[in-house]
Amino acid sequence: MNQTPTPEHTEEKKGQKKKKEKKKRLPLKRSISNILFALRQVWEVSPSYFIIYYAMTLVWGTLDFLEGSFLLRMIVNGIEKNTPTRVIVTFMLVIAVADVLASALNSYYWNVLSPPKYQLVSATIRKKLFRKASTVELACYETPAFYDKYMKAMDEANGRVEKVMGTIDNLIWNTISLCCNSFLLFLIDPVLIIFGLLPLLLGIVRRWQSKLSHDQTAARKPIDRRVKYVRRTFYLNEYAKEMRIGGMYRRMLDELMATYRDFKQLMRKYGILRAVTQYIQKVGLEVVTILGAMFYAVWRTLGDGGMTIGDCIVILNSIGTISYCLNYMVQNFAEFGEHSLFLEDVRYFLDYEVAMPEDEDAPAAHGGDIELKHVSFRYTGAEKDTLHDISMKIRAGEHIALVGLNGSGKTTLVKLLLRLYDPTDGEVLLDGRNAKEYRLSSYRDSFSCVFQDFRVFSMSVTENVLLRTPREGDTERVREALRESGAWEKIESLPAGLDSTLTREFDDHGINLSGGEAQKVSLARVFAEDAPCIILDEPSSALDPIAEHTMFENMMRAARGRSVIFISHRLSSAVDADRIYLMEDGRIAETGTHRDLMARGGKYAEMFHLQAKNYVGEEVEA
Ligand code: ADP
Repeated sequence: MNQTPTPEHTEEKKGQKKKKEKKKRLPLKRSISNILFALRQVWEVSPSYFIIYYAMTLVWGTLDFLEGSFLLRMIVNGIEKNTPTRVIVTFMLVIAVADVLASALNSYYWNVLSPPKYQLVSATIRKKLFRKASTVELACYETPAFYDKYMKAMDEANGRVEKVMGTIDNLIWNTISLCCNSFLLFLIDPVLIIFGLLPLLLGIVRRWQSKLSHDQTAARKPIDRRVKYVRRTFYLNEYAKEMRIGGMYRRMLDELMATYRDFKQLMRKYGILRAVTQYIQKVGLEVVTILGAMFYAVWRTLGDGGMTIGDCIVILNSIGTISYCLNYMVQNFAEFGEHSLFLEDVRYFLDYEVAMPEDEDAPAAHGGDIELKHVSFRYTGAEKDTLHDISMKIRAGEHIALVGLNGSGKTTLVKLLLRLYDPTDGEVLLDGRNAKEYRLSSYRDSFSCVFQDFRVFSMSVTENVLLRTPREGDTERVREALRESGAWEKIESLPAGLDSTLTREFDDHGINLSGGEAQKVSLARVFAEDAPCIILDEPSSALDPIAEHTMFENMMRAARGRSVIFISHRLSSAVDADRIYLMEDGRIAETGTHRDLMARGGKYAEMFHLQAKNYVGEEVEA
């Protein structure tokens, strides 16, 4: 079977490879490449921000050393060697002036220059992710492993870049401090360097700790996903009704407590290990290194008298700085490893090869006959096909009705027509050419569509109708479309008319439309566009019978010369269709005009009679 590679397949293949990679951690080359990737994001947005950021680190790192150990040694030596006060005071004044100037620049930079620049970096990264998110195939959303990575990428992207910047900042600072202080100690007694190097051994523990931290975060993601879902069910409008009837809210609260129990278990698994690594580091650094060097300095000064009191004071001051610097540098490298693992998820997502790429060189679609040839389809992870060997031809300008019970595959068929999924077998043709050969955006633009589970956006009415930023001259087209869909009367009555914002998420004075009104607004999308083919998936589910009738009349008038494929539960709306397809268990069970199907006396006729009876209370003649 000619199966399109789904994210699940790609995921499986990459998953096995990645599992091995994660156990070993990322190869050094890849880690460095990930860190450079993060830095490139900043550099591309603002080289000046990047340069000033690190120039300031260099200045502060140097000043810190000069103001600390260096000045201390100068004063102590100066006292011992009777250096003229003028020399010491002049040096102190120069340092003070440099500090005053650098502080002013520092405050201005961090409070005024840096925040908007960093926001821009964040927004640019998010934009890349969102752009990518809008191109990945729908199946990705149904693959939990991929969805987790997607969420991690979204959570981590901008914060992680900031953390990378911070780690490099620390690394530069620590390197300056380490080099300057080591040189000072080396001048006093080369043996002291041994104490400074001990913290390097703690790096192994630090790496272990960083791995634990990453594993713990990864293990938390599925729990967080469940918590977020529960949260959504409590605050999203679309769940509000169901959450108030029956016992679903209790079920959700139980789920919340279950996530808490899972979290507790997770913490039990990782908490103790993290405590042990932290303890080893603290003791290794504070007891072995710092106190060890102090013992040595005190012994050399008081014991064998080989060291001056001045040098002893400098050692006590510098050894702590050196070992902390080394420890932090090791930590910095461990942090790079951690950042790199998280950035790997971001890059995985950004580099993910979408199954349906936009090929700019592919031909544009201009409508025409639509044909399905032996199309079968199976959802990712499903055990059986949802559509089986469907063949149908819809000539340009024909009006087609898809009818059938819930779950018979009507919406799935429409999703294949729109190339939201590709068939697992068979092909969809537009104007005699495989749909995959067209430029994707142009192919999809050949269809105007209203989905059964339509959404209105927290944007103006105009934007909701056009589904894009309005252009000059659009107002009249939107108004006309709303008239045709039956929503104009309501929109006209609003104080801000077409500019009214729908929902209150972005605007306190936003408008909450009723289900039927919102459906009419989304229907206007079809009237506002001239796409050669209109697809309506249960367009009248929220409308009353009169509104439904008017809507259909308007729709058919507006759709003259354009193809229409509509799904409807109300068979009365299929009566005038050029052809009706009755679907059953993913197959076409009956095809023909209303008259043909009624004459045949099959399933369609049975359903029609049943519905007509329910509507008028008695059997009507077909
Ligand atoms: P209809 O539109 O006729 O009600 P659908 O096309 O929505 O039917 O659904 C057909 C079948 O496909 C149903 O059994 C449904 O559960 C299944 N299905 C729909 N969407 C998905 C999905 N994203 N993943 C797995 N199965 C799905």
